[in-house]
Amino acid sequence: MKIYNTLTRNVEQIKPNVEGKIAMYTCGPTVYHFAHIGNLRSYIMEDVLEKTLRFEGYDVKRVMNITDVGHLSSDADSGEDKMLKGAKREHKTVMEIAKFYTDAFFSDCAKLNIKTPDVVEPATNCIDEFIHMIEVLLEKGYAYQAGENIYFDTSKLKNYYVFGNQNEDELMVGVRDDVTEDENKRNKNDFVLWFTKSKFEDQALKWDSPWGVGYPGWHIECSCISMKHLGEYMDIHCGGIDNMFPHHTNEIAQSESYLGHKWCNYWFHVHHLNDETGKMSKSKGEFLTVSLLESKGYNPLVYRLFALQSHYRKPLTFSYDALDQCASAYKKLLNKVKAIKDEGSVDDGEVKAWHNKFAEIVGNDVNTAMGITLLYDVLKSDLNGATKKAIIGDYDYVLGLDLLKACEVTEDSNSSEDAELVALVEGMIAERKEAKKAKDFAKADEIRAKLLDMGIALEDTREGVKWKRV
Ligand SMILES: [Zn+2]
Repeated sequence: MKIYNTLTRNVEQIKPNVEGKIAMYTCGPTVYHFAHIGNLRSYIMEDVLEKTLRFEGYDVKRVMNITDVGHLSSDADSGEDKMLKGAKREHKTVMEIAKFYTDAFFSDCAKLNIKTPDVVEPATNCIDEFIHMIEVLLEKGYAYQAGENIYFDTSKLKNYYVFGNQNEDELMVGVRDDVTEDENKRNKNDFVLWFTKSKFEDQALKWDSPWGVGYPGWHIECSCISMKHLGEYMDIHCGGIDNMFPHHTNEIAQSESYLGHKWCNYWFHVHHLNDETGKMSKSKGEFLTVSLLESKGYNPLVYRLFALQSHYRKPLTFSYDALDQCASAYKKLLNKVKAIKDEGSVDDGEVKAWHNKFAEIVGNDVNTAMGITLLYDVLKSDLNGATKKAIIGDYDYVLGLDLLKACEVTEDSNSSEDAELVALVEGMIAERKEAKKAKDFAKADEIRAKLLDMGIALEDTREGVKWKRV
């Protein structure tokens, strides 16, 4: 398996620390809100990476944290506490918010066929580990106390910018600049390990520490949680590209200062999902979630296919037009699989040969688009039906598109009628949108009336047009 390693800026063959085994870590969500589909693009591609490794025969152990404390609205430790913000917004406690959005996250993942990592650990479970690591960093002189908080001293490192990018302006993308500088910091990029005295007097979650009652900074959790479950040497660390700085840079700084040796060999970063206005975020534009896509009649796996069709190292632009094309491609794909004849017996030699081809193609820096092309090659081939199905089932372990389920579904006229209706309604809604864009309001009204005749009512909401049967 080869991946692009952000640390060396090269595509490299993965050489695990222990032969045949992969210790893998993923930065989990901050559970103060729903995940938007841009975040989920990262989790889909990381899921494919994990499954490709397993497909190639590696024994993978994957760990993920859940951030339920310490993540401020700026990744550089300033602004408002995200969990507190969520709790205030919904008049709930921080723990209620954490529980609700953790469940929502895994429910979205399940809909997208994203496997739950082997270990999932909330940050609030590991306070003792955080305190221990901070104590060692203080002892070793990598940390200091100022204004009663504990900070990591980035000036103690020969090379803080491990990802090689020295252009701070570029690095600070994603870090809001409308937040005030923390005057306790000795160096601009020093970061908080432990907040004792902070502006959040009403911080709900706080713990005793050698430095007073307080709570951990955001970055420390990933270092501690990964070491707790994977030990001192890690093979692959994953995350979205916006985690590269400052989060992953800080994780490496504190982990390697604590350990006194190299920590993780390969860094896997998934690029942004953009909308037509630029980077997608929770703070601007339509807030795109899996539930929103479902409410518009899309199968979540259409979005998975959308993500798989492009390379994870390229920014991907989301639009409903592109998603519609993908929905139609997915439908055609399922129909092709469904049309495979029940004939012959499985040719194990062929299954193995095609397995190896897929491992080689997708194993080359997670080239999922080429993997899908190979899937079409299987469909087009003159292999017998039983062998085709066996190969498709094998590939679908990685692709996660429920391809064989299409064959299991017994002919249910209602559900196929439903699919037709959804396609028709979505088409008419798109047509109405075009008409409105062209200021042809008469035509737009006509389409709305036609839909109403069919028993479909439209509602224009801030998230776009929703429809329901009346
Ligand atoms: Zn992390």
